[in-house]
Parts: sequence; structure tokens; C-alpha cells
Amino acid sequence: MKDFKPANNIQDLQYFGEFGGVNPSISDSSTYTFLTAKSMHDTFEGTSEGCYLYSRHTSPSNLYLSQALAALEGSEGANVASSGMGAITPVILQLCGAGDHIVSSRTIYGGTHAFMANFLPKLNIKTAFVNITDLKEVEASITPQTKLIYCESVSNPLLEIANIPELAKIAKKHNIPLVVDNTFMPMILSPIQLGADIVVHSLTKFINGSSDTMGGAICSSQAFIDALKDVNDGASMLLGPALDSLRAASILKNMRTLHIRMRQHSENAAYIAKKFQDDSLKVVYPGLESHPDHALFKSMINNNYGFGGMLTVDVGSLEKANAFMEEMQHQKLGYLAVSLGFYKTLFSAPGTSTSSEISEEEQKSMGLSQGLIRMSLGLDCDISRTYDTMRKIMLQMNII
Ligand SMILES: *Cc1c(COP(=O)(O)O)cnc(C)c1O
Repeated sequence: MKDFKPANNIQDLQYFGEFGGVNPSISDSSTYTFLTAKSMHDTFEGTSEGCYLYSRHTSPSNLYLSQALAALEGSEGANVASSGMGAITPVILQLCGAGDHIVSSRTIYGGTHAFMANFLPKLNIKTAFVNITDLKEVEASITPQTKLIYCESVSNPLLEIANIPELAKIAKKHNIPLVVDNTFMPMILSPIQLGADIVVHSLTKFINGSSDTMGGAICSSQAFIDALKDVNDGASMLLGPALDSLRAASILKNMRTLHIRMRQHSENAAYIAKKFQDDSLKVVYPGLESHPDHALFKSMINNNYGFGGMLTVDVGSLEKANAFMEEMQHQKLGYLAVSLGFYKTLFSAPGTSTSSEISEEEQKSMGLSQGLIRMSLGLDCDISRTYDTMRKIMLQMNII
């Protein structure tokens, strides 16, 4: 375990509001005045530090949130976006042009997979989808045209664990950046501390945690952040996925409790995972010793936040999965919904929802079965009671 302390880093940041408020003032403007025409020109040329231009570039509220995200990941810089995809797609387009190539894990978020498999070929950018736990395959897939290695720290939905230090070594050797989507594991894993170059997040999930807004983030060197925001050729600036300042302010306030929430999500998920395992169900959870990469995961995580709030369980068939999820919702245990990181447990069958962009054949080859349920455990204060109800339903449905 690592003793990097993301929660402390965030708590040490102090911002005051305009009138000494304990929260920073919200910038309620899309455009900013300049006292002189020269300072406007300098700002456009990028030579005038600390001036605001136009809110697609950045805003005070977005900068506050960016600083908190840089503190979370221990990165030099950060930039926020209107959604996770609004963070991921500019990173890729900033790094790749026509004729370039990507080596990506095959088990990634459905939208990211669809972007690489269906959208990027229109720009003549090709992707090799690899088994990210097979480091030999990763390295063998790199070509002279490869511009980045892409993976999720813990993959969606199969919860495979990326060996970030080893992947970072491969990336360095070939002089390309390692880009890691850390949406499933904020606080718990700090990929940049482990050698990654760029971290992306969907703030829509755990980081905001109240399923009321979308958001995204990129954490990296300041030079890469500046490149993304460049008024002449920056992908974030020119594609325009800007986060609204009001939302940035609300996400920042929710980040103040992220460490407490992550601990509780982890505690509840670990409890349910252990019980499911005792019930002889096929459960995957990074905190279980039965997870093939439990030891690797343990060697990479930060102390104190547990093993995460996500687990998968295979109940045998899509019919059983659907019936189980409908009854769990009926019994108020959670919601049949995509997304994750909510105070209430969320569950879905990835094969027919979030990963449905991936063909059935490909799903089979990567081990994504139809009876698989992905659960994002909520913040239940009495998880043993939650489990007792789950168990009753599973007995009734012959799942156990
Ligand atoms: C949800 C998600 C995304 C996409 O984020 P949005 O905010 O929905 O655009 C990317 N990666 C992972 C792992 C996700 O769970």
C-alpha cells in the first residue's frame, strides 16, 4: 500500500469567497472584461497569466475544481470538462492525428470503446484492443504509429486490474504516454503516482457522487493541460466540452466528502462480496483474495480507502439477472440504473446495457456473460440488513 494522501491534499486547499465566505464565490459569467485592449491581446497570445478570457477556455470556478482534482491525483495540472467523454475524447484527439494508432485495453467503458472502434476510423486512427493484463501482448501491439496506451485502472465492467507501474515502463520505453481512466477508483488509486502520464475521470460517478450532474476531468502535466486549452489548436478549447461554473462549484463541494464516501462504498462492497462468495456465487471484487490480481491491487492502492465500491456477480442467465434486479429495486435495495457512485446501490446487466456497444462475440471472448450484474454499492448504513433481503430474493429465485 502507498502512503500518498489524496484526501489531505484536497483538505489543505483553501479558497475564500469574495466576502470571506468559506466556499469560493461562483463565477456567473461567460465572458470577462479587460481594462486595456493590450491585456486582451496578451491573454489571447497566452502571455498574460491569471486573466480570464471566455468561459470555454476556463473560469474561476472551473479552476478551483481543477486544482482540487490535481490535488486528488497529485498531478501538476488539471482541466475539467462537461462529461467524462468530454474529457476522454479531447485527450485522444490531442495526441492522435490521421494515420496514428492506439493500443487500448479491450475492457473499457462502452462509450470509449465505441469512440475508438467506430468513430476514430473515420479519421484514419486505428486501435488495437488488447488484454491489458497480458503485458507481452500490450508491448507487441505497439507500432511506430502508436501514440498512446489507454486503459482503465480497474476496468468496466469486468474489474480487471491494470498493472500501472509495468504499463508505465512500457509506455516510457516507447516514448508514448500512458492514459488511465480512474473513474472507478478515485482516492483509492493514484495512477500518476504509479507512473501514468494522464488520468481521466468521469466526475459524473463517485467524485460528484449525487447523480445530479455530468462532468469530466483530465489530470496531467501543466504543459499538456495548456496544450488542450490552446486557443489555436487545443482539442478541449476547440471541441468545446466546457463545464458550467455552477456545476463546477457544486462538484467541488461534493469532493469535500469524497474520502468518507469512498470508505463507506468500499466497506459495503467488501461485505456483500464476501457474503456472495460464501454463497458460492461467481463474484469479482478486487478486495477478495480470489480476485486474480488482488495482490497487485493491494500493492498499488493508497492506505485507508478500501478496495472500492464496485463488484460484479454472475447469477447464471440474463433472465435471472433481470428478475433479481427488478426485485431488488422493488424491495428498495437500490435502483436498476446505469452509472455508479450514488448513495443508493445501482445495478445493471452490462451485456445488455453499458457494454451493449461491444458485439456479443467480443463480449464472450472477454468473459462478459449475459448473467453478469454490475453493482455500485451505495452508502447503506446497515449493510447486513441489505444483504439479508438480497439473500431472501436469491433463495426464492433459485440463484443460490
Ligand atoms: C461513465 C464513464 C465514462 C464516461 O463518462 P460520462 O460522464 O458519462 O461522459 C468513462 N469511463 C468510465 C469508466 C465511466 O464509468
